[in-house]
Amino acid sequence: MRKRRGHLVALILTAVLAASCGSDSEPSGTSETKPPPTHPAGSTMARIQAKGKLALGTKYDQLGFGQQNPTTGKVEGFDVEIAKRIAVAIFGGDVKSAEAKIEPVETVSKNREPFIQDGKVDIVVATYTINDARKKEVDFAGPYFVAKQDLMVKSDDSSIKSVTDLNGKKACTVKGSTSEKNLRAKAPQAEVLLFDTYSQCGEALRDGRVQAVTTDAPILAGLVSRSDRAFKLVEAPFSEEPYGIGLKKGDDVFRSFLNDVLEEIYANGEWQAAFDSTLGALGLKREPPPKVDRYASAGTSSPTSTSTPTGAGGSTATTASTTSTSTSTSTSTSTSTSTSTPSTTPKP
Ligand code: GLU
Repeated sequence: MRKRRGHLVALILTAVLAASCGSDSEPSGTSETKPPPTHPAGSTMARIQAKGKLALGTKYDQLGFGQQNPTTGKVEGFDVEIAKRIAVAIFGGDVKSAEAKIEPVETVSKNREPFIQDGKVDIVVATYTINDARKKEVDFAGPYFVAKQDLMVKSDDSSIKSVTDLNGKKACTVKGSTSEKNLRAKAPQAEVLLFDTYSQCGEALRDGRVQAVTTDAPILAGLVSRSDRAFKLVEAPFSEEPYGIGLKKGDDVFRSFLNDVLEEIYANGEWQAAFDSTLGALGLKREPPPKVDRYASAGTSSPTSTSTPTGAGGSTATTASTTSTSTSTSTSTSTSTSTSTPSTTPKP
């Protein structure tokens, strides 16, 4: 009898645990509704809260990260989901209501720095690699994801197995991206076709203007999944791309706040839920989130935010990997994705 009761208790406990935790593959995040927080006077968080919307620079053509839904007009993906969690930390409410608090602004790779510097956006969450050259122009919270650059070719192409195979061939990538820099460094004899967006590169591969497209593997995975089996990922990674949240250079209180939000959503399952509903749905395998890098800002000490989200971690400096050889110096502010002309001239 005692044995049976013990068995029953164990069964109930298992059921309760399963219900509260969910399985590893299906984290639900928190459905908590937060009251509007009080932010330090004069902080960027207070300013955004007062204006009522978070201006988010993101991609509009990258399935899985930032993709405009042609039916609803809404921009969907992992980057947008990360921004929603930031909106909850700024405005309160919950992830669902956060959508109404975001004002999406289309950014392409080359205009991310000027959009931040000119105040066109409050943050950029747009597959944006953290590196030293960009840190001279903007600051980054994160990383919140680490990708690797790879290649995409036609499904029946077996001639391209690694980046060096692009020497003497035509390859497409995007202006102002680390993908362009890495390609030129690893395959200096490749003929490089540059567009504003990776979807334009997909079109160039489809109609034979190039033999390969190169950028971060999860971006290519989105293009592969939309290609109706016409394209494949080569799976020959050749760089590390830690994605950060871009913000105005020197705004250390805001950066610290954003890093707190990231650490909180890593710990409470929201990051995992954001991944599973976007990149996970595309078939990408979820790795644990990367460690936030609270790097020392140039010249100034790093003040801490007094509106730290509950459960956020401390401000220990960590060493996340960054690519230091890449840069983006374009000052173009064009967001057009349809009228841009291809260019084969190297970028500065
Ligand atoms: N992550 C790389 C970059 O920030 C390539 C992807 C992109 O262009 O958004 O440049």
